Amino acid sequence: MILVLFGPPGSGKGTQAEFLKEKYGVVHFSTGAYLRELLSSGKSEDPLFERIAGIMKSGGLIPDEEITSLVLRHLEELDSKNPVKIILLDGYPRSRGQAGSLVDFCESKGKEFFVLDIRVDLAALKERLMSRVNCSSCNAPFSVASKETPVCPFCGSNEVFKRNDDNDEAVIGERIASYENISLEVLNFFDNKRVFIIDGNSDINTVKDRISKVVDVFIKEKF
Ligand code: ADP
Repeated sequence: MILVLFGPPGSGKGTQAEFLKEKYGVVHFSTGAYLRELLSSGKSEDPLFERIAGIMKSGGLIPDEEITSLVLRHLEELDSKNPVKIILLDGYPRSRGQAGSLVDFCESKGKEFFVLDIRVDLAALKERLMSRVNCSSCNAPFSVASKETPVCPFCGSNEVFKRNDDNDEAVIGERIASYENISLEVLNFFDNKRVFIIDGNSDINTVKDRISKVVDVFIKEKF
């Protein structure tokens, strides 16, 4: 089964993914994290990678054909290594075309998929992203107030880094705007029965509980 985590940047997808990994043993596939890893893996002279790095730096979206071929290839690989696990897909689809490719992929593999649509008031997102850091040890994202010493709530490490695209207000604005432009068309593409709306405005634990209630039902029905 594929569980799509859908929501704007800063909606808590990364945090909730950590919780879903712990509670349900899902395999987390974040397209953004995958791309960042791919780019840092030393193939920077490849013109495709150079182009991808430029797009990510500006907060834009990678063209459908390129991202789809990378994502579906990796999904196949994950699926063949973990045939009975739930794959948590975070960051894809981000366009109607990508949504279509995902549906075709699931149909061809006989896989169920569901979408968790995390909704957060857009006004809160910029602030969340400006205060977000990532743990250098386990990579999980979390927020830190400006004078606080960061301690990762997942592994306790105090080594952190800030993503390039979380540093610049204009880039953050661009990412939120690109989400606003595409979210309706992506969600409208899916059958309503597959989309579960989660109110993501509350504290982390409350949002976790809301997500658990929905995921428990899938698991009871499908496993
Ligand atoms: P965010 O925190 O903005 O949700 P991600 O970590 O998911 O960021 O992705 C970082 C960047 O990677 C995006 O701004 C975009 O440039 C690129 N990217 C990730 N997934 C996709 C996708 N499905 N389609 C196009 N570009 C993508």
